[in-house]
Amino acid sequence: MARIPRPPAPARRDSVRNSPAKIDPTEAHRLASAGAALLLDVREAGEHAEVHAPGALLVPLTALAGLTGPTGPSGSAPGPGAGSSPVEAVRTAADGRPVLVVCRSGNRSAIAAGLLDALGVPAMNVTGGMRAWSLAGLPMHSGACRCGGAI
Ligand SMILES: [Zn+2]
Repeated sequence: MARIPRPPAPARRDSVRNSPAKIDPTEAHRLASAGAALLLDVREAGEHAEVHAPGALLVPLTALAGLTGPTGPSGSAPGPGAGSSPVEAVRTAADGRPVLVVCRSGNRSAIAAGLLDALGVPAMNVTGGMRAWSLAGLPMHSGACRCGGAI
């Protein structure tokens, strides 16, 4: 008896080719300052403290992707925490609005936007990151203020 091998998946999920939508910094700032979108900064806290877009919610990519170091089993984990994951927190903060993801140059934000999209949180990548944001002459904060909150 010939066993039928498991057929290959017909639709190949290529996360590289299926890149998230993009938005330029000027448009991102316009939407975010109008309250029509949530600006999400996925850099590390130290980078955010140097300079950031006003009102950007700080959630480092490492936290968003669940890569925040080893969480030892001996640690006092409060529970399953499914409802308190960074992704769920972003979903709650976005409240149905698109999430505009920014980083330093646009690489980490592309990853984060793809991750959020895949989890059902509509997200767009701010092209060029804070570098392009700065070049566009858009307003910026320097210092460790948490004007947009942090997760
Ligand atoms: Zn600020």
